[in-house]
Amino acid sequence: MRRGLCVKCGTPTVYRKLNGISHGGDGGGGVYVRTSWLTSASPVEHLICTRCGYFESYVVDERKMSEITKTWEKVG
Ligand SMILES: [Zn+2]
Repeated sequence: MRRGLCVKCGTPTVYRKLNGISHGGDGGGGVYVRTSWLTSASPVEHLICTRCGYFESYVVDERKMSEITKTWEKVG
């Protein structure tokens, strides 16, 4: 998706926006990635295909990524 091609329909109609999609809550954007009892919202980059509506989300928070490697279970 980040290359501009939709992974679902193969059309180059992908657009991006930081915190472009909200899942409700306070409406401030971002998501709560839980790494401790006190967690603040992390910004998310959203990419959406205007042809089929498929979208992807990427957490863009380097400090959070470091915390996740210490507190989450690694897959694989
Ligand atoms: Zn698409």
